[in-house]
Amino acid sequence: MAGVMIVFDFDKTILNCDSDNWVVDGMGFTKLFEELTSTMPWNLAMDIVMGKIHSQGITIDDIADCLRRAPLIPHVASAIKIAHSLGCDLRIVSDANVFFIETILKHHGLLDFFSEINTNPSLVDKQGRLRIFPYHDLTSSSCISNLDSCPSNMCKGRIIERIKANGEEGNKRIIYLGDGKGDYCPSLRLRTNDFVMPRKDYPVWELMCCDPSKIKAKIYEWSNGEELERTLLNLIHSINFVEDHKVDFNKSDAILSTALDCKSQLVAVSPHEAFNLSVPL
Ligand SMILES: [Mg+2]
Repeated sequence: MAGVMIVFDFDKTILNCDSDNWVVDGMGFTKLFEELTSTMPWNLAMDIVMGKIHSQGITIDDIADCLRRAPLIPHVASAIKIAHSLGCDLRIVSDANVFFIETILKHHGLLDFFSEINTNPSLVDKQGRLRIFPYHDLTSSSCISNLDSCPSNMCKGRIIERIKANGEEGNKRIIYLGDGKGDYCPSLRLRTNDFVMPRKDYPVWELMCCDPSKIKAKIYEWSNGEELERTLLNLIHSINFVEDHKVDFNKSDAILSTALDCKSQLVAVSPHEAFNLSVPL
């Protein structure tokens, strides 16, 4: 059995806000951050603001406390736990940073459910200042799909390609969940037997709406945490059904649609239909 890999974006997909904005706003540095991001990459601006925060006497513990108050999207924690119990390989691909993501996931008891977190590196230096670095070398990497929706420090499409090329793991069916512009490139890299779950009315969904036929994976939108959990778990159950019954690849789409339909009244749709269909959830 190939199995299922679930790849989560973090901000506004697991967390119910943007973790960078949550800390910047929570510490009172919104104006400086806005000034910086108007002239430089977001990732670099975050590193500079962390230096400013440190120089004002705000400690790394203060930042961690702030992060622990950030809200998760309701139902996402239980979706993560159940998906893991069903044998799924869970990963994160995020343009936040290691310190923010690990602090939040640890606080909610979720960190150990993930086998891999792909995000911008960070470290606390000897002075106690948080440093944040780009995921890719800014001078040598660009978007693998030649899009301007990927930030210069991270092309999530490159990460999906690396995962797909990694032997046995690469054969797992991927379910990708995201909300932002940066989640569009990895959505384009998914295969016909993968799935993408864009957050409805958010930038990645809007980009997909421009030409859904560019997405080879099946699209299931979600608007809130309850819908995310129900759709995700139904997909996992349905994929497991298809794989347990050793369904021929050519017939699996039809079986998957039927299985989804029977289990949840959820209708499997092609990318072309995905945004015009009223789904009775
Ligand atoms: Mg996001």
